[in-house]
Amino acid sequence: MDSNAYQTRHQCKWREGQRSYALLALERCRRDSIIPIFCDTGNEHQAVYDYLAYLELALDIKITRLKADFTEQIAAKRRFIANDQRIGRDKHGRRIRWSNKAKRRALGALYPTGNPFLDLCIWKGRFPSRKAQFCTEELKRNQAVMFQLDLIDDGHQVISWQGVRRDESQNRRNAKKIERLGPNLYAFRPLVDWTALKVFDYCASHRIQPNPLYLQGMNRVGCMPCINCGKEEIRQIMARFPEALTEKDEWERLVSLASKRGFSTFFNKELHAKNYADRRVHESNRIESVIHWAHTSHGGRQLDMLSGLIEPSMCSSSYGLCE
Ligand code: SF4
Repeated sequence: MDSNAYQTRHQCKWREGQRSYALLALERCRRDSIIPIFCDTGNEHQAVYDYLAYLELALDIKITRLKADFTEQIAAKRRFIANDQRIGRDKHGRRIRWSNKAKRRALGALYPTGNPFLDLCIWKGRFPSRKAQFCTEELKRNQAVMFQLDLIDDGHQVISWQGVRRDESQNRRNAKKIERLGPNLYAFRPLVDWTALKVFDYCASHRIQPNPLYLQGMNRVGCMPCINCGKEEIRQIMARFPEALTEKDEWERLVSLASKRGFSTFFNKELHAKNYADRRVHESNRIESVIHWAHTSHGGRQLDMLSGLIEPSMCSSSYGLCE
């Protein structure tokens, strides 16, 4: 795979498992053939940025930060809405054309903020959901692929190191170790048959600290919060990093203004899924309602008195990293 070492670029995506496969890459490959990258979604905890700086120092590497920019898409959407003269209804019987009231509201909100995650949602007029998880594609995959294609255009062969493990989820249980993705582009997943504990042990043996968020109740270090967060993770975030949740109130306001229906919520918990288009349903999915729901049990009917007992300073690693 590394026969043409001069032209080969080992490109490590800096996410989960990142420390370990970067260590492996540093052990196995020429240092100047490795380009670590980090796709900044704009929905990261400050600890993630601090940890990148720590790793750059500890491993003596430079991590390339990639950040999506949706300025052009937002400008094109403004033009589209301003000129929209369509007639008719969609398959759900809703008017296709933007009403004048919705146009005025959206045109006042359709401006880039500089935050990739928020700008993506302003452009789309909605937040992503489990069924429409465009955040992964737009903020991570497309950024990494564009970076890789540029390297290939410059005459390099790219081996994309990925920290995927088969035991992470059902979707990943058949992940291949090596895969050809296209001309001069390969995926290499050195950790596919590792466990999470093996990853932490391997890094500890090289004296590399885990991201501190793992010691504070987080199962993974991705967005803070992720749209797919479960009840327990929402509770943990609320106890330890409440600002990461409460700032989404303002995000919901901005994205709702830019949306055709006039409302959109960060989480789509389907707490009342019978009539998704109903504004009252969206009220029940707003960030403050979801925080309240996370502190209940028995399907949201009963307040869970124990949920308030999480001490923000308590060490609570789900990977058993604490003594
Ligand atoms: S971590 Fe969650 S919110 Fe962030 S890009 Fe992935 S799916 Fe979307």
